[in-house]
Amino acid sequence: MIRCEVILLNKTKKLDRPFSYRASEGMALGVGDLVQVPFGPKNQRAKGLVLSVEEQSKEDPSLKVVFEVLGRGFFKKKDLNLMNFLRAEYLAGYAEALRLLLPPGELVGNQHRIRKVLVAKDPPDSHARGKEYRAIYDYIVKQEALGGVIAREVALAGFSASSVRTMLRHGFLGVEEQRESRAHHGVWAKEEPLELNEEQEAARQKIEEGPAGVYLLHGVTGSGKTEVFLHLVRSVLEAKADAVLLVPEIALTPQMIQRVKGRFGPEVSVYHSRLSEGERYDEWMRIKNGEAHLAIGARSALFLPFADLKLVVVDEEHEMSYKSETNPKYLTREVARFMMQENAGKVLLASATPSLEAYQSAKTGDYQLVELSKRAGAGAMPKIYTVDMRRELRSGNRSILSAALQSAMAQSLEKGRQTILFLNRRGMSGFVSCRACGFVYQCPHCSVSLTKHGGGRLVCHHCGHTEYQKSVCPSCGSRLIKEFGVGTERVEAEVNERFPDARILRMDRDTTSKKESYENIYAQFKAHGADILIGTQMVAKGLDFHGVDLVGILSADLSLNMPDFRAYEKTFQLITQVSGRAGRGDGAGRVILQTYQPEAYPIVFAIQGDYQGFFNQESSIRRALNYPPFGRLFTLILSGQEEPVLIECIQKIARALREALRPYATITIMGSVACRISRLNGWFRQQLVIKGPLSRQMAQKVQQLVYQAVRGKTLRVSLDRNPQDFL
Ligand code: ADP
Ligand code: ZN
Ligand code: ZN
Repeated sequence: MIRCEVILLNKTKKLDRPFSYRASEGMALGVGDLVQVPFGPKNQRAKGLVLSVEEQSKEDPSLKVVFEVLGRGFFKKKDLNLMNFLRAEYLAGYAEALRLLLPPGELVGNQHRIRKVLVAKDPPDSHARGKEYRAIYDYIVKQEALGGVIAREVALAGFSASSVRTMLRHGFLGVEEQRESRAHHGVWAKEEPLELNEEQEAARQKIEEGPAGVYLLHGVTGSGKTEVFLHLVRSVLEAKADAVLLVPEIALTPQMIQRVKGRFGPEVSVYHSRLSEGERYDEWMRIKNGEAHLAIGARSALFLPFADLKLVVVDEEHEMSYKSETNPKYLTREVARFMMQENAGKVLLASATPSLEAYQSAKTGDYQLVELSKRAGAGAMPKIYTVDMRRELRSGNRSILSAALQSAMAQSLEKGRQTILFLNRRGMSGFVSCRACGFVYQCPHCSVSLTKHGGGRLVCHHCGHTEYQKSVCPSCGSRLIKEFGVGTERVEAEVNERFPDARILRMDRDTTSKKESYENIYAQFKAHGADILIGTQMVAKGLDFHGVDLVGILSADLSLNMPDFRAYEKTFQLITQVSGRAGRGDGAGRVILQTYQPEAYPIVFAIQGDYQGFFNQESSIRRALNYPPFGRLFTLILSGQEEPVLIECIQKIARALREALRPYATITIMGSVACRISRLNGWFRQQLVIKGPLSRQMAQKVQQLVYQAVRGKTLRVSLDRNPQDFL
């Protein structure tokens, strides 16, 4: 008898363990096969992975029989290794890890669709209806070249459906089944690679000729990092291997896609969450079938089924979006490193403002450091001027725009150049409060204040709860109820007032919620269809507008005061990145940075363009406090609907952990405390942080202890061995 262990892919965490089955007579089974098995008292069909297979002399009729093999060798050895890595490193379940490797929609049965496309056969000759037939025929010939149409689309184009049917009957037209490809194939202007400058060429050589491992490409904004890794990608493709280019979702701009597709052809796969599930499925299949060997996309593109992945580029390496917030809570650079270790490939991290972790690893020699010191193309590094907003207020200017920024904007407008105004939304809410009694509009389900939007709408950015602002305070009836903080809409109104002739565009969550709107705003500004672009984090990344000679940073320091050990790092990164948008054409760019804390060191070092200086100061503080990259953090978040039950349980866990970890002097337990967002969707949240060198094995022990403690209670557990900040 053949016995096998199967992991069920679509079950709850409780069922996340191997189950035993047996093969039917003559059924060939192998490790990595995707199978369908009976499960539960009703023997419902469930999808699973065969984890192991063994020959057993004694029959065991108590075991259920595998229904069928859906995909032979579906998961490769490397997939199973990766699964084990994700389980060990991030405390993920089997199924959670494997789900990353399945085609999108696989578990809900969403497969490709078949399109019945019309094809032109014999041309109709002239008779009574000849003219109409001829028109339909010509239309279909034309459409064939563009990918083909189905009968309904011909009718929608204004032709008679009955004529189409007649033409089919007479053999003028035929039908062909076509697998529908939902991927968006635009038209891409061909682009030639640029010749690398000396510094870029040295960097390319060092990486290309160096050993397998992780490389950190650190270069100022506009130093030509992209150009360097595109050259490296070319070599990999020429060697018939695969490469993946990871970019933060908001940096996956039309410009970036054009640059890559224009360079490597339309076959390049583009993979991100704005695609529909069907579109992602098609892209996944194109990689699986070897039709594409290069993908560009958000972090999940790392898990596309490449045959021989040799290069993983992680652009803007410091971005928080490289950390998954759902299980497995992986960090992209770590997973990429594991994968490239297994396949003797390279990971290339690129950034103008590397995370402290990456730069520290480069300093210790764990990563290879490669640096670019100057801008590659036209334009010099922009000059940054600070405006002390406290002084501005004292001199009687209550506007969002300082006098200096206003006059710079006027100059820029006069010269026919463009301005970007950046509003730092991190750490700012735009909440509505009463100045008489202090009442604040809050979400009834989450412990966060509501954010003001257009038309008096107040929105919770965590659960989407929406209500409308009253004209008087709901608590005391005062009329002094108004928005605190500043939103992009208010900036727009104010700019409009001061510069009534300027053409203004706004790029934020509200204006870009539709699929194409981001592209439209981008294209319009690029074509100089507007003078001023007002935006949030979205304008900070990867945009290369040559007409921009002025960047205004309206609220540089708001993110400084966040209760987050990375607050300074994020502020430094933001200022550096936003400033990097200026002066990319000819002529130097100017940046005007408005702040209430001009003396804060992230701001001082950012103005000086001194990454090293910032790194040294920030890392001495992190070292003293035992924060990453020097100490490790581990967080437990417990949530529940009844607060007393929740608090009792987490305190019990804290006591047990203190007891269990007492022998390890370097490990401390902080908490338990309420999370920054202490209530979410009606669930209360408490957090506990373990600081110190907690090994994988110890983390697993903690996990067991926690699960034991919550058994039988309606509490949710979230464990993170690598939190990027505190929640
Ligand atoms: P980064 O990724 O470091 O921000 P990019 O690769 O986007 O930099 O380059 C910034 C600008 O410099 C782009 O407009 C690019 O076309 C130009 N550029 C890059 N490398 C070269 C080069 N070797 N010669 C001329 N222009 C270059
Ligand atoms: Zn009030
Ligand atoms: Zn809410």
